[in-house]
Amino acid sequence: ELRHPGLELGDNRQPGESGVTIGRPTSLATAEDLGLDHWRTLPRAQMPPWEDYDEVEQVCRVLDSVPSIVAPYEVDQLRQRLAQVCEGKAFLLQGGDCAETFADNTESHLLANARTLLQMAVVLTYGASMPVVKVARVAGQYTKPRSQALDSLGLPAYRGDMINSLEPTPQARVADPQRMIRAYANAAAAMNMLRAYLGGGLGDLHAVHDWNRDFVRTSAFGERYEAIAREIDRALAFIRACGMTDEEALRTVTLYASHEALALEYDRALTRIADGQAYGLSGHFLWVGERTRDLDGAHLDFISRIANPIGVKLGPTTTPEYALRLCEMLNPDNIPGKLTLISRMGNHQVRDSLPRLVETVRDNGAKVVWQCDPMHGNTHESSNGYKTRHFDRIVDEVLGYFEVHKMLGTHPGGIHIELTGEDVTECLGGAQALVDSDLPGRYETACDPRLNTQQSLELAFLVAEMLRG
Ligand code: PEP
Ligand code: MN
Repeated sequence: ELRHPGLELGDNRQPGESGVTIGRPTSLATAEDLGLDHWRTLPRAQMPPWEDYDEVEQVCRVLDSVPSIVAPYEVDQLRQRLAQVCEGKAFLLQGGDCAETFADNTESHLLANARTLLQMAVVLTYGASMPVVKVARVAGQYTKPRSQALDSLGLPAYRGDMINSLEPTPQARVADPQRMIRAYANAAAAMNMLRAYLGGGLGDLHAVHDWNRDFVRTSAFGERYEAIAREIDRALAFIRACGMTDEEALRTVTLYASHEALALEYDRALTRIADGQAYGLSGHFLWVGERTRDLDGAHLDFISRIANPIGVKLGPTTTPEYALRLCEMLNPDNIPGKLTLISRMGNHQVRDSLPRLVETVRDNGAKVVWQCDPMHGNTHESSNGYKTRHFDRIVDEVLGYFEVHKMLGTHPGGIHIELTGEDVTECLGGAQALVDSDLPGRYETACDPRLNTQQSLELAFLVAEMLRG
């Protein structure tokens, strides 16, 4: 169940057997048959301001033949696990940086983020009494949609390290196609490191729980979380007493990679055809954001043609009719686990805007995973000018999401969080009671404010309580 993808290459199943696809050129389907370039003819929001498209194409020819970041069988495996979520038998935890940067693509940053995600997953596994599918925003989350073409200094907006640089100079903000190569190299290195550490015990259940106990001991609200932590202690002691100490499932964890499919040239160049299907192998899970989800636009057309599990962000203006058309377009065969609808309504709107979407999708029998992103609808500017989010609003949106699904008898399938495993001061509130004047202390994000380690774990404990009803 919990084996690491990289370790499964050595198993002796044959290609084609139980979901193993190793990408043999068995199929004659071409990119043209599969319509992989149709998006190029369609309107495209948030187009990177490339200046020299010949150079973009040159770079893409390089990326056309490099080893991919992930493998087709892993993509199939994630889709199967998300089918379990769709059927109410598992929970999806997705999280990581808003924007990864090349500078922060370090061993310590990657490990801290992975560790935080794994710590959250243990708490949620216990709370849900279900497997938790773990998906990181990592190894490719290098592009950002922007609401304004210019930033507050009047410079071209920063669009993520795959496109331009955060440095506030006109030259640094020019879109540079060569950055796609650097993004690929960084993504490959990140994935390589994570696979190695996860295979070597980073996800060991006992170790991860020990970190959680440290958190409970030091958190100002630790008392509230103590009860669940102690129950997990007892469950682990029971497992040990039964002699299950070396179980592979307790030691190894699969962490899937995800990012927004925004720089379509990059994701297209890393798409490969295996067994007659197209796989977007720049990551396991790709999603389309709130600003690029036009039904007639390039982004949805591209992701409709790949076999990956895919997601679409849905803000408060989403209509039930739109949600249904999305299901028809992106999941015509109604495959469970294929499509995740990620609501990001804001805590003031979730209880009003979400029910009619869930109800309509449910009544039409469309199979989707419902996931809650409580971050992007809850952003505000602090009194001292920082883009921030308050922990209480984030918790309240998740609570509203649980209420809606309870009312409709549908499965609250998961959460999607911007977080980091470091002690940053980007979001307000939580047990540390961060206030506006704390924000300058360690405000390090390249884009949106992330929950820090403690806030992330608190959220996990609170969601575990919600899952237990
Ligand atoms: C994001 O996930 O970082 C993002 C930009 O989200 P949204 O498209 O929902 O605004
Ligand atoms: Mn963001």
